[in-house]
Amino acid sequence: MVIGGLQKFSLLDYPGHISAIVFTQGCNFRCHFCYNPMLVCPVSRVGGKLKYSRAEKDEKRKDHFSLYKEDDLFDFLASRTGKLEGVVITGGEPTIHPDLLEFITKIKKLGYKVKLDTNGTNPAMLKKLLAPLTRRSKGGNKADKKNNPPIPFLSGGRLVDYIAMDIKAPLEKYGEVAGFPLSKLSWRAVERSEAISVKSHSPEIASSSRGGTPRNDSFVNLEKIKKSIKIIMGANIPYEFRTTVVPGLIKPEDINKMGEMINGAEIWYLQQFKSNIKLVDESFMGQKSYNIKEMKKMAKIAGQYVKKCEIR
Ligand code: SF4
Repeated sequence: MVIGGLQKFSLLDYPGHISAIVFTQGCNFRCHFCYNPMLVCPVSRVGGKLKYSRAEKDEKRKDHFSLYKEDDLFDFLASRTGKLEGVVITGGEPTIHPDLLEFITKIKKLGYKVKLDTNGTNPAMLKKLLAPLTRRSKGGNKADKKNNPPIPFLSGGRLVDYIAMDIKAPLEKYGEVAGFPLSKLSWRAVERSEAISVKSHSPEIASSSRGGTPRNDSFVNLEKIKKSIKIIMGANIPYEFRTTVVPGLIKPEDINKMGEMINGAEIWYLQQFKSNIKLVDESFMGQKSYNIKEMKKMAKIAGQYVKKCEIR
């Protein structure tokens, strides 16, 4: 896993659980309002472009971008069993990493609950992560299964215990909201962020991010977004949807269209936009967010579609 950071303690990020937060490096989206530019556009620790063969890339990529060694992370987690209850895996976008299943399996073997944050672009991986576990279905190929035998005490459980998916925008605005063009980024790691995006399971999104013009909606595979929503709502585990409501990108009337996308869902959080921090799109820094009255109005609309809508 390419790890960009570790927060060793949180009471807020996994509802009802004391947790640690693991930040994975790299993302296949470029949301204007994203407050993790250094995870989305990571700087190579080693320097220079990746010039390795495909076979070499996985390991080299970890060397280039990991800011935290996987072994150190597992030493830390092993030392906190009984004190921490859960591990939150967030990003960047965790599902662009092909070894996510194995990574989560190792965390589960230590007895932790796992919460996953995702942008919903990799329904195939979500399906595997949310499928009920049997003694013989822990993911991975034959060799992985040999090295990583099934976890008997997890039989009947799932690799992921709680999932949070972003609903970025109504479907027709996804490209506009999540597709800030790379060439306009002033962050100095632009080239390298492409290197990491190449690993994406949604190549159509990763490759589209290279253009200099704003991305349109055809850059985002909307079918995958819809599929992920369906998988999550049918998975029979606790979940949440969340939307960062940014003036200029999301209008109150967009709430209805997003509500239709997740009609009947358990909970939908509307998140107030924060602009007093570094953002992927610097032109959004310092911009006004919706005030609490406007947020409440939108939450009322949203509440017509889901069982519960809250502002945060
Ligand atoms: S907010 Fe957007 S760009 Fe940032 S990590 Fe999430 S999906 Fe990626």
